[in-house]
Amino acid sequence: MLQFPVSNPTKSFWQTIENPAFANLLSTPTLPSETDILIVGSGYAGASTAYYLYQKGFNGSLIMLEARTLCSGASARNGGHLKPDLYMAHEAFSERYGEDFAVDIANFEYNHLAEFKKVVENENIDCDFVLTRACDVHLSKEVSDVAERNFRRSVNHPNAQYSSDLQINFGEASKVISKVENTSSCITYTAGHVWVYKFVAGLLNKCINKGMKVYANTPALDINKLPDGRYMVKTNKGSIVTKKLVLATNAYTPAIESKLKDKIVPFKGVCTRIISHTNKRTPHLTNTYGIRFAPGQFDYLINRPDGSVIVGGATRKVMTLSKFYDNIDDSTTIDDIDNYFDGYMNKMFYTWKGVPEKISHIWSGIMGFTNDQLPYVGEVPGDMNKFVIAGFHGHGMPRVLLSAKGPANSITGGYLEIPEPFKITEKRLSNTENLIISGLGLQSKL
Ligand SMILES: Cc1cc2nc3c(=O)[nH]c(=O)nc-3n(C[C@H](O)[C@H](O)[C@H](O)COP(=O)(O)OP(=O)(O)OC[C@H]3O[C@@H](n4cnc5c(N)ncnc54)[C@H](O)[C@@H]3O)c2cc1C
Repeated sequence: MLQFPVSNPTKSFWQTIENPAFANLLSTPTLPSETDILIVGSGYAGASTAYYLYQKGFNGSLIMLEARTLCSGASARNGGHLKPDLYMAHEAFSERYGEDFAVDIANFEYNHLAEFKKVVENENIDCDFVLTRACDVHLSKEVSDVAERNFRRSVNHPNAQYSSDLQINFGEASKVISKVENTSSCITYTAGHVWVYKFVAGLLNKCINKGMKVYANTPALDINKLPDGRYMVKTNKGSIVTKKLVLATNAYTPAIESKLKDKIVPFKGVCTRIISHTNKRTPHLTNTYGIRFAPGQFDYLINRPDGSVIVGGATRKVMTLSKFYDNIDDSTTIDDIDNYFDGYMNKMFYTWKGVPEKISHIWSGIMGFTNDQLPYVGEVPGDMNKFVIAGFHGHGMPRVLLSAKGPANSITGGYLEIPEPFKITEKRLSNTENLIISGLGLQSKL
């Protein structure tokens, strides 16, 4: 069955500021019949691609289609955590791609911090962006040992640009730095947090001001290659022919690009916003968090300037695979974990002990997990002028922005500047392995 976005998604905390006129924008009453470039998808990937196209001097016609309201997918429903993975995937990626590529990926993610800050500041986008430090805490010896081993190998690689930024702490120091009593080690490094919906809306508005036309509630339903090499895209508002096509459609990509069937798999996640219902300031945590229970099993948390925290994860508590795997239904949360976040801050952080807390918002979103855990970016093999930027494996914040320079560069005649393993190739498309479940450490349970 073809899986398109559902029409009645849960509403995230981030979407509470949504402006209906912007969300439902139709730049013209009818869809144009032709364009130079068509981007499908108005999330972080689609908006960033459009942004870099204009940065590269593109001045042709650019149209964006969105199946639901503008930016209503994962980018409006995530944890807001801009946290590069600088070490935890080191051994796995080294084994698969070689150690130099593993470090290339970590450097690429690290460079997102500077690029994100640059775009926010250059474009003056008001999106609560805060540069801070991430703190990974480890609640079992097994995960602590795995983290330390990966940490040592990654920071000691001569190409690592982030070595001096990473610090490992043990024992009492790790408890005091993290405010987590049960941890035996913690690793800290530069990271950020951000109101992603505001960031993406900011980019979309910049592009609209430069001439991009946008059509909300207009799903791309089918794509056909014409004899002259252009693409005809069928929508609920008629068809449009484009010279170049960019699919920034995340988990839903296989519905309109069969080559990515079983390569990108929809994966449902749940996030919450926790507040303290007293008049006093909450005990502000200065770090953001990765809270690791076992290899592949973790929660993530950011602190917000308004005293609230956003927490997500809990997949390890879901008892039925179909409740999250290959599931595109973000109109509900996941009942197995609805109570998981009750009293979370009191249980986890000793500085929150006794502070009254409650969940103000809970919502779900759909990630695009991939069979080999890496995004698919670039020109689709065998389909000239059709590009994809999708499948960020639930970890898009430190991967999408610079990846979007790839298609933007290729379209305007430049080089695809992304890590080699991110590139969409024949070899990757013919790979039948699926590392999604094993990567979560859940095989024995499900
Ligand atoms: C609950 C949750 C928590 C997360 N937390 C984090 C985090 O803290 N840090 C992090 O790095 N990453 C996180 N992620 C992942 C991150 O949000 C994504 O990697 C990122 O937002 C992907 O951006 P995107 O533009 O590719 O996808 P989306 O934002 O999903 O955008 C794709 C858009 O395409 C549209 N679309 C799809 N099909 C069609 C079609 N046929 N026609 C027209 N439009 C279509 C969709 O409606 C959607 O708006 C989280 C994701 C979720 C769901």
